[in-house]
Amino acid sequence: MNNFRMYVPTDIRFGKNRLEELPEVLAEYGKKVLLAYGGGSIKKSGLYDKVVQLLNEQNFTIVELTGIEPNPKIESVREGVRLVREHDLDVILAVGGGSVVDAAKVIAGAVFYEGDAWDVVVDKSKMSKALPLVDILTLSATGTEMNRNAVISNTKTNEKFGTSGWELIPKASFLDPENTYTVSSYQTSAGSADIMSHLCEQYFNRTQGVDVQTNVAEALMKTVIQNTPLALENPNDYDARSNLMWASTLALNGLVGNGAGQGWTCHPIEHELSAFYDITHGIGLAIVTPRWLKFCIEKDDSTHERIANWARNVWNIIEENDEKAARLGVRAMYHYFKDNTKIEMTLQATGITTTEKVREMSELAVKHGGLNSQNPYVPMTENDVEKVLLDCFEEMTV
Ligand code: NAP
Ligand code: FE
Repeated sequence: MNNFRMYVPTDIRFGKNRLEELPEVLAEYGKKVLLAYGGGSIKKSGLYDKVVQLLNEQNFTIVELTGIEPNPKIESVREGVRLVREHDLDVILAVGGGSVVDAAKVIAGAVFYEGDAWDVVVDKSKMSKALPLVDILTLSATGTEMNRNAVISNTKTNEKFGTSGWELIPKASFLDPENTYTVSSYQTSAGSADIMSHLCEQYFNRTQGVDVQTNVAEALMKTVIQNTPLALENPNDYDARSNLMWASTLALNGLVGNGAGQGWTCHPIEHELSAFYDITHGIGLAIVTPRWLKFCIEKDDSTHERIANWARNVWNIIEENDEKAARLGVRAMYHYFKDNTKIEMTLQATGITTTEKVREMSELAVKHGGLNSQNPYVPMTENDVEKVLLDCFEEMTV
């Protein structure tokens, strides 16, 4: 196991009927609040009215930043920074999915940087401190509610980059599974695929002696596999929504990756797809991840044992031969996404109908993700990424 620092000071308020705790939690940081949210789902669900009423009752000043889009854009961040400065705000309250929380994180960090907010996305060392951030999560997927990462897109340059900082970790996160009842089946499936991908990115590593991380990751994957179909079948299934929500948090708060994980692969590839085509993050990952595992099996025999163990422990594959077991596991994952969570598993279904940008995206994924270094589970060249992406245009056979 490698050395690591685990620092997750987020105050988690999990469960139903806890919203009345919000004013007290926020007041610790001040009474002037930037209320950040997305395209309106919180208005439809009634959550917006509840939050505003609670804060008004306690004489908070609320300034709103609305319309934060999925794959949040740098323009929203710039606008948020402007509002915080203009109104001299004390704290940010993000209400929404990962996109809203990520945008809020970068606003929090960029407020203290004099130059353009995009600079702190490209170079995290430009963030030294941040405004306090509290969130009310409405979608189980990213783990942003208890980590220091944020991903922002720049549509002018076709770039989607992650940034991070210890100071960006939310001070408090309200995790009420009932707030995810209204998430569509498409976004529920996408969110679960994102959680599965976070777990795979960290699970497939070559670090010795990481039994805790391995076993926790397998348990979280099984939890997601079991609970996603239940939430799809009955969106108001409290236990299924609870398990997805807590799994999303634990999958990317350091518990699984610290001391074990190495370079990520599918996320850098997906980030190029989203940067060029603005596709849904989790759907891109569902499509890329099984093809990437197939690539690993075919490129590097030394991966067979670990992928086979994953297949046996997570997908209940009974097969003694490692390569065969590994392939059966990847096939099980592919069909799970396709049949059980109803994700259309080719890039065409996301609206990407031509392969014309595949070479450029492959080159950029290698460059931005450091994929040809020793960090990833299996290092990848531009040609390797191109092969995986082209594979994403056909139904997969493995
Ligand atoms: P999202 O982009 O925040 O939201 C997707 C859609 O779901 C939006 O249209 C949103 O509508 C809707 N939605 C959210 N909550 C809802 C609810 N309760 N009821 C109905 N609709 C709801 O989705 P996400 O998957 O959470 O976030 C994706 C982003 O996070 C991507 O940019 C991805 O790259 C990033 N990410 C970050 C991390 C990290 O560690 N920070 C990790 C992985 C991915 P409204 O806009 O109307 O609310
Ligand atoms: Fe992700």
